[in-house]
Amino acid sequence: MTLHEELDRLLSTLNVGDEKYAVKAVDILLDLAQRRLASDLHLLPDESRTHLVPYFRIDGVLEPVGRIAGGVNIVSRLKVLASLLTYRTDIPQEGRVKAESTESEVRISTFPTPHGEKAVVRFFVGSGDYRLLADLGYPEDIEQRLQEILQQTSGLLLTCGPSGAGKTTMLYAAIRHLQQPSSILRSICTLEDPVEAIIPGVSQSLVKPETEFNYERGLVSLMRQDPDVIMVGEIRNRETAEIVFQASLTGHLVLSTFHAGTAADAVGRLADMGIEPYLMRSGLTAILAQRLLRKLCSCHLSKESDCEKCRGRKYLGRVVAAELLETEATEVGKAILDRRDVQTVYELAKKSGMVPMLERARRMTVEGVTTLEECDRVFGPYFRKNMSSKLSET
Ligand SMILES: [Zn+2]
Repeated sequence: MTLHEELDRLLSTLNVGDEKYAVKAVDILLDLAQRRLASDLHLLPDESRTHLVPYFRIDGVLEPVGRIAGGVNIVSRLKVLASLLTYRTDIPQEGRVKAESTESEVRISTFPTPHGEKAVVRFFVGSGDYRLLADLGYPEDIEQRLQEILQQTSGLLLTCGPSGAGKTTMLYAAIRHLQQPSSILRSICTLEDPVEAIIPGVSQSLVKPETEFNYERGLVSLMRQDPDVIMVGEIRNRETAEIVFQASLTGHLVLSTFHAGTAADAVGRLADMGIEPYLMRSGLTAILAQRLLRKLCSCHLSKESDCEKCRGRKYLGRVVAAELLETEATEVGKAILDRRDVQTVYELAKKSGMVPMLERARRMTVEGVTTLEECDRVFGPYFRKNMSSKLSET
């Protein structure tokens, strides 16, 4: 049964005239999205204004799931759940709902469009679902190095990639790794926006960028709390980056995420942000860049389209394509210090042993783990542009 058919079947038990219709329909939508492991649920108003067009994002890909009656009432119900202003439909709004069953949160955001409000529900990993470093499927060499880096008592480990590339999942897994019984007990503190999952034994704080308790002020205060390991949800500006580097140079292991396409790009972007090369050279331990690629389902060679596992999508689950740029490599460190361009940093990192994530992805297409089409979807034209010579070899 496709998702569309399943949703239709569930909704067919409801009566649109029922005063509880919107409440029940929203319950059905949220429950189905979570059971099908969707990361996001989109609800778009259509021209009729009486219906919404729902989409689920599963394994990074949007999937339409039909049409649902009761447009405005359904969006209103979501707004009630997230304590948003139901009478305001002309401004974007954002709120959170704490899921009852798990410790995790659901974020609901609305946006005005010509046909009415659009709503997007983002589901977070949930405390039961986040995994250990060893469960994330990094190549052995990268996993080994990550474990070694996590044993260090200072330095910064940055995880890069676009939204949905598994950066936060990696940070949570790293923290979980640090908490294993065999590890030395360390004081672990986080600053996050939002707190996606509760990790027992870790002091997690929710920062709000627009308030006094933002990343910068939070970090300054946190330093007085005697932390060994600090996780900063995201570096968004120079102020945060500078304090993060100071922390990493003063005996704290710092873990954070950063929006950059590749590991070498991250070096360039930090420099553009105004971070001094000497800070980067001494504070930065490594940059992990990654993407998630859908894995081929075992049914992909058969002609049948009704595979129960992948529901005819031919893909099932995802695999990580990653690259780890280490600044300890003398030449890479020197290039950073000399403010060399991104391409030079990239070439030197390769020379010192970094296997680029594009190359890792290409190898996975050869091994039949994923496809070239999936690489195109995830990396865009960048993939074929950089891999063209190697692709023609195989
Ligand atoms: Zn299948």
